[in-house]
Amino acid sequence: MSELLTVEEHRARILAAVNALPVETVRLDEAAGRTLAADVRARHDLPGDDNSSMDGFAVRFADVEGADAESPVPLRVVADLPAGSADDPAFGPGEAVRIMTGAPVPTGADAIVPFEDTAGGLADSLGTVEVLHAPAAAGAFIRRRGGDVRTGDAVLTAGERLGSYALAAAAAAGGDRLEVRRRPRVAVVSTGSELVAPGTTPGRGQTPDSNGVLLNALVTGADAEVTVLASVADEPSAIEAVLEHASNVDVVVFSGGVSAGAYEPVRLALSERIAFDKVAMQPGKPQAFGVVDDGRLVFGLPGNPVSVAVSFEVFVRPALLALQGRTAIDRRHARLTASESWRTPPGRRQYLPAVVDLVAGTVRPATAGGSGSHLAASLARAEAFAIVPAEVSVVAVGDPVDVMLIP
Ligand code: AMP
Ligand code: MG
Repeated sequence: MSELLTVEEHRARILAAVNALPVETVRLDEAAGRTLAADVRARHDLPGDDNSSMDGFAVRFADVEGADAESPVPLRVVADLPAGSADDPAFGPGEAVRIMTGAPVPTGADAIVPFEDTAGGLADSLGTVEVLHAPAAAGAFIRRRGGDVRTGDAVLTAGERLGSYALAAAAAAGGDRLEVRRRPRVAVVSTGSELVAPGTTPGRGQTPDSNGVLLNALVTGADAEVTVLASVADEPSAIEAVLEHASNVDVVVFSGGVSAGAYEPVRLALSERIAFDKVAMQPGKPQAFGVVDDGRLVFGLPGNPVSVAVSFEVFVRPALLALQGRTAIDRRHARLTASESWRTPPGRRQYLPAVVDLVAGTVRPATAGGSGSHLAASLARAEAFAIVPAEVSVVAVGDPVDVMLIP
């Protein structure tokens, strides 16, 4: 029997072949899901001014520090500052300025009294206000200029994914165009003479091509772009043809046709050009990977649907993220407790489709009937993969288990 590679060895070979894709500049509204190629630094202080965090009155703290319900302090309101006002009204002792949330605090004020702490509440306006409760201290309800970030501070870091919060932070800090990596272009190719298009009733010996749908969604979920989606028969010439057709992609992912059977077209067509290995994992033992002449990364994943899902998570997704220059290329992991027992294969690391309860901190197999890698429909129940080391042969109730979470 040939030597098995460890998961880490195979993964390291793959990642060593990945070079980040070119940088391009995109507008904020086109940047969702992209990966930053350069830090985003604040172009201005944020907030840009000392401003009010409440609707109320800008005051001198010394005027109102003794105010309470028994001895309210009346102040004359001499100006009004709605949000957006650039005014800086002067006011003297015994005076106040009405101010709305977000408006810059007048230079002469050092505290805000919210409407709620005045006799008239919202009805108090541009006449006199009676302060019923003193602010806790000077500075009360004032958001300080630069309290979030200061000019030049790094708001986002190269290698971060631009999710909703990151995009909003870039906008708040003055960004409008961002340097990001190009999205990887991916060809997804199902192989198998038994495959029929989803929606077609399979005849004897046929099965719907679910891997094409699975990989299309997984690649898209990894912020890459599927530009070729094909299903080919078990003919080596068809593999050659599709590889030629997909000349404009960064990555080709074949499913099926890589193991030791008699009609494995990916192996037959590409055994001279990419490496075919056995990896000490279950499922996913036969794996093919290589770089073809012009720089395309070619993956050959074993065809069973659970094998495809696991192989994608462990090998393909990290490569797609590394192509984007992403710093964090792994799914989140958690250490949970087994709430059921199950057997695991000897000498191979198990990736078992699992269901988790993150409140209880537990994990159990997603399918009662074992870990069959052909269980395409049962895969839908998986929220995670339980990862069991090669040297463990049985997981008992109460055992700690490392779990890869799939959102
Ligand atoms: P293979 O790796 O080609 O030997 O395929 C292993 C098993 O996975 C076989 O039972 C195939 O029918 C099944 N399979 C291969 N490709 C697909 C696919 N695209 N969709 C669903 N099942 C597949
Ligand atoms: Mg096949």
